Amino acid sequence: MSIRDNIEYINHLKDEAARKSGRTGDDVLLVAVTKLHDTDEINEAIDCGITDIGENKVQEILNKYEKVKPVRWHLIGHLQTNKVKYIIDKVAMIHSVESLHLAQEIDKRAAQHGVTMDILIQVNSAEEESKFGISVEETEQMIRDILDNCPNVRIRGLMCIAPYEDDPENAAIYFREVKELYDRYSEIDHPNLDFKYLSMGMSNDFQVAIHEGSNLIRVGTAIFGQRDYSRKMGE
Ligand SMILES: *Cc1c(COP(=O)(O)O)cnc(C)c1O
Repeated sequence: MSIRDNIEYINHLKDEAARKSGRTGDDVLLVAVTKLHDTDEINEAIDCGITDIGENKVQEILNKYEKVKPVRWHLIGHLQTNKVKYIIDKVAMIHSVESLHLAQEIDKRAAQHGVTMDILIQVNSAEEESKFGISVEETEQMIRDILDNCPNVRIRGLMCIAPYEDDPENAAIYFREVKELYDRYSEIDHPNLDFKYLSMGMSNDFQVAIHEGSNLIRVGTAIFGQRDYSRKMGE
């Protein structure tokens, strides 16, 4: 299967899943996750209609940035505060905010560049030790702290990575919890809070995530095939 075939197939499944939850495929943004894939593959995906790409390493964004056609970049992986400065003028949204400290650094760098940075707060609803993100219980306080301290940051929603499940239906409960938070906190009245994105679902579980209310899916393997981790593009 070519990248084009894969994207068509995923768009088809995305449409179907969205319709089952009373929406249309256009209500769900497909972010193609391009980590460990080269710029030719990425440009091919863009030629097939991909408008948004996700990377999880700052260095990989920097290595590829000049060679990739115009597209919206998303930082979806763990972000160290000392690297914010390198991507502040390159990414459209940071999905992985999980501390006030990180949000404050984003705020500072955004101010220097005269921009407001869109962020999502990463919620680790399954409380997996191996994953980043805050707990369900910590979410409201984190939102309020960021709103109180970071005028150059706009909170656009929440992000969640569910545990890998052989049967992706088993991940539904973790998505559902984050959807509940999303609905609840979207009501907060503040100029720097404008919920639009609930970033949930990857190759293995995006259909389940859409059923549970996701409107942004991050799909890598199902578009580009297996990643070759020996490539070390982020080094
Ligand atoms: C790698 C990655 C994905 C994509 O995973 P696939 O299983 O390849 O679709 C999505 N989200 C994050 C945060 C990732 O790091």
